[in-house]
Amino acid sequence: MRFKRRLRCSQCGSLRLEIVEASEAYTVFQQGEDGDIEREGNNHHGGITGIVNVKCHTCGREWTPRGVRQITDVLGYPETP
Ligand SMILES: [Zn+2]
Repeated sequence: MRFKRRLRCSQCGSLRLEIVEASEAYTVFQQGEDGDIEREGNNHHGGITGIVNVKCHTCGREWTPRGVRQITDVLGYPETP
């Protein structure tokens, strides 16, 4: 899937960027009195704040966009190919 760009390197103006989202996912299990363990749900992202790092392929600048907590904050609306 392709997305509309929202980011540009502020140092050299390049659009060739690598965007990495590092966030903690966790899974919840519940163990009952009978000792059986049930998976409660899928991975929760909940209130955990991810970190998005951007690296410019042209000049090598790396930065963390302000106000960005997850990858979806830097993606524009999806473009259908
Ligand atoms: Zn750059």
